[in-house]
Amino acid sequence: MESWQKQVREHCLRANEMVAITGAGISVPSGLPSAEEMFRGKQVKELFSKELAKRHWQQYRHLYAKIVEDWSVARPNHAHHALALRDVKTITMNLDGLHQQAGTKSVIEIHGTLRRFRCLHCGARERSIALWKNHVKCRLCDGPMWPDVVLEGEPVRQLGLALNWMSLADALLIIGTSLTMQPIRKFPKIAKENGIPVIVVNEKADEWVPYYLIK
Ligand SMILES: [Zn+2]
Repeated sequence: MESWQKQVREHCLRANEMVAITGAGISVPSGLPSAEEMFRGKQVKELFSKELAKRHWQQYRHLYAKIVEDWSVARPNHAHHALALRDVKTITMNLDGLHQQAGTKSVIEIHGTLRRFRCLHCGARERSIALWKNHVKCRLCDGPMWPDVVLEGEPVRQLGLALNWMSLADALLIIGTSLTMQPIRKFPKIAKENGIPVIVVNEKADEWVPYYLIK
């Protein structure tokens, strides 16, 4: 075992309150697109447009039904299961729901999820994908139901709780993301200021190859 591997192992074994931040890379082995692939595809980008969601939801809903259906068949991989086994608190940028499916209890989906729907008028949530396909209007107010993702201009979700977790964490794992988005890109700096190790795992998260360790 190389010395960096030993170091990572030691940090992980020692930590009791590990927090993980995960991005698209962790779900690539589950058959989902990487961040680059996702944003090259115009269709996914449109998913986050408030304008389109409100004005053209009927026109786009078939497209979204396909995305939601494609994604709903993905299953958690070894990386999701490993985090669930250690009961690691997980802050994810992913919309796929795979951490919960693997059994992780503490998950913050800062950008929302594709596995739930939200009424764009009254905010009511709907869980069933099957139901959404046949019943795309809100059962309370008849408003348009949209995948429950954070739309352009909306704040990320549960940031206060994420910062609370960070204040208690004794190690930070960053998996499958280059952390390009604010405010989450500040988290490694916060971890360093808190004096805890930051372990970064490359985009092929199934191999668990940490490529650098910030002490
Ligand atoms: Zn409604």
